Amino acid sequence: MSSVILECDACGKTLSVQRTAFTHRAIGQDEREMGTETTYEAAFETQCVCQNHITIKHLTFEYPEGSENHLELLVAGAKVVQNSLLS
Ligand SMILES: [Zn+2]
Repeated sequence: MSSVILECDACGKTLSVQRTAFTHRAIGQDEREMGTETTYEAAFETQCVCQNHITIKHLTFEYPEGSENHLELLVAGAKVVQNSLLS
């Protein structure tokens, strides 16, 4: 299952966030050769057991229509140990 495993910057504990925790919304569209390219963004916030605040931003794009591609994963408050969000 697609998930991302993070290591807390403050205490070093690892936590995992499932792909299903993200709600992607469209933030932009571009017309290209093979159709429309849509960019999606999902923002997710969580708190470690040590109270450290962790924010995750996952960017994907759909191009051509119906095919989702991983674009970027931005994390604040933790570092990425493993990223299997690629679809
Ligand atoms: Zn922590």
